[in-house]
Formats: sequence, structure tokens, C-alpha cells
Amino acid sequence: MLMQHKIISVKNLVKNYGDFQAVKSISFDVYEGEIFGLLGPNGAGKSTTLEIIETLRDKTSGQIIVDGIDLDKDPSSIKKNIGVQLQTSGFYPSLNLIELIKLFGGLYNKEVDPIELLKKVNLVDKAKSKSKELSGGQKQRFSIATTLINQPKIIFLDEPTTGLDPQARRNLWDLIREIRSAGTTVIITTHYMDEAEQLCDRIAIMDQGKIIKLDSPDKMIDELVETGFERPKQVKAASLEDVFIHLTGREMRDE
Ligand code: ADP
Ligand code: MG
Repeated sequence: MLMQHKIISVKNLVKNYGDFQAVKSISFDVYEGEIFGLLGPNGAGKSTTLEIIETLRDKTSGQIIVDGIDLDKDPSSIKKNIGVQLQTSGFYPSLNLIELIKLFGGLYNKEVDPIELLKKVNLVDKAKSKSKELSGGQKQRFSIATTLINQPKIIFLDEPTTGLDPQARRNLWDLIREIRSAGTTVIITTHYMDEAEQLCDRIAIMDQGKIIKLDSPDKMIDELVETGFERPKQVKAASLEDVFIHLTGREMRDE
């Protein structure tokens, strides 16, 4: 990346839940136009970190700047200018996708063209369906669409592919790449190593509230290889997932 403009800056972020320190003074920057990943096991502190930046959760201490705005000074400006996944299931069971988009557009005070938005996430043929009638992958694509309603510079995705089948995951990766290509910065959490490796430009590996490594996946892998590390087993040229996708057809869309 040539332009390395910091769009998010996190310094010495701490989050205590009572006596328990869930986030232990972490610092990182996210550059404009990248897909930045917080990778780590359950309980690492990924969602806590994301929700604090999204202004949805209070921090204990530390400094956060989002697109030039200090979170301590003007959280509502940050909230207006970022894309967060909105809860759709359960809340409005009788509304279809078009109606939901109009409702959320109203909340942001933004004119949105629902069909244009549904086109971006490949859900035009579900425009008149209710969210409970969507498959897991379609629900996640719709949830990603809701992050785009206020035309944000940055979107936040918390474990967007958890529980999805391989095709639905790959569809979602393609969608996230398209959103980035259109100029939006993406910050994503995941506990899937392969997802972080394939999707993210840079990754912060989190474990027990700390960032233990921050770099591009390629650099991390190269560094490890340079230490003389070798995989114990012969690496196969394809995985069982590849076999399955080959058998069922890569272009198959999740129903
Ligand atoms: P991750 O998203 O990486 O799985 P979380 O940020 O959800 O991690 O949680 C980090 C740690 O903080 C976990 O040990 C979790 O149990 C704890 N935690 C999260 N939310 C709360 C809360 N509201 N109250 C107390 N502890 C919490
Ligand atoms: Mg989480």
C-alpha cells in the first residue's frame, strides 16, 4: 500500500470487566483502504476492542482516534460515519429486505436505494423476502448491506463468516473484497486462520487481551520460514474443502 493514511488509531487501550482485564493496553493503527483483521481465539478480546471503537462499549482507558475524531470528544460523529452490522433477525419479523433498508436509512437520516444496495450484496431476488426466510450466508450478506446504508468510510465486521458453509464463506470474502475495492476500509474479527490469511492485508493476532503480533500474513509466514521452520508433514496441493467445492461447483450459491 502506497498511501498509508491512518484512519483508525488505538493507543494503550485497556478494558476491565470488574477485576478481569479483557484488553491489556493494546495499540494499533488501521490504514485507509485496507482490510485489517483482529485474529484470535474465543475470549481474546476481539469483540470488546471492536465494540469500543464502534462507540458501543465504554473503555477503561486509552486513546482512540477514528477518521480524525477523538472518541472521548465526539463519539456521536464517529457513530454517524462508520458502518456497524445492525440486528435484523427477531426485531422486525414482518418487514421484508426493502422495508428494513428503508427503516434503517431513516434511522441514519439517509436516502437509500434499497435495490442498488441489495445488488451490491447479490440479494436482489430476495428483496421481498423477510430476513428470517434467508439462509445463513444470505443473512450475513444482508447484515453486511446494513453496514453500507450510511455510506461509511469504515465498516466493522465481527466474525461475519462464523457458522457458514465453505461456499457461503467464499462468497462473503468476495463481497468484502468488493467493498474494499470501492474504497471502504474494513476491520474484521475472526478466529479462522485461513480467513485472516486470505482476506486481510494486515492482521493483529490477539491472545488473552494482548496483541502478540501485527503484520501482513505474508510477512509473518516469511519470517517464520526464515527461522528454519518446516511443516512436519508434506503439504498437500489441495484441501478437503477444495475437493468439496470442486464436486459441488464453486459458483453454487448458498440457498
Ligand atoms: P472475543 O470476541 O475475542 O471472543 P470478547 O471481547 O468477547 O472476546 O471477550 C473477552 C473476554 O472478556 C472474555 O474472557 C469474556 O468472557 C470477557 N467479557 C466479555 N464481555 C464481558 C462482560 N460484559 N462482562 C464481563 N466479562 C466480559
Ligand atoms: Mg467475539
